[in-house]
Amino acid sequence: MIIFGTKGYLYQLAILTLVCGHCGNPSAHTLRKRVTKFTLFFVPLFPFSTKYATQCTFCGAEQKVTKEQAEQLRAQSASGHDGQTYGQPRQQPSQP
Ligand SMILES: [Zn+2]
Repeated sequence: MIIFGTKGYLYQLAILTLVCGHCGNPSAHTLRKRVTKFTLFFVPLFPFSTKYATQCTFCGAEQKVTKEQAEQLRAQSASGHDGQTYGQPRQQPSQP
């Protein structure tokens, strides 16, 4: 007899300040990763589903994001809230 099933794991990756698409408030959002693993005899073997979502702490609305978006958001939160723009390298004024 083979016993198999799934087990879900929830990871909180970051907390971000975003404007919620549901309530429109600029509130804290948790960025979460949900991994579902295939288990055999209650031993988790390999993940077969990884999903990312942000959840508004104000209204509780959850929004699914792609892996790319999640990584971008995570990188943003890691770099701090100084609003750095990338893509346009700011040139230092050269000293005479
Ligand atoms: Zn909201």
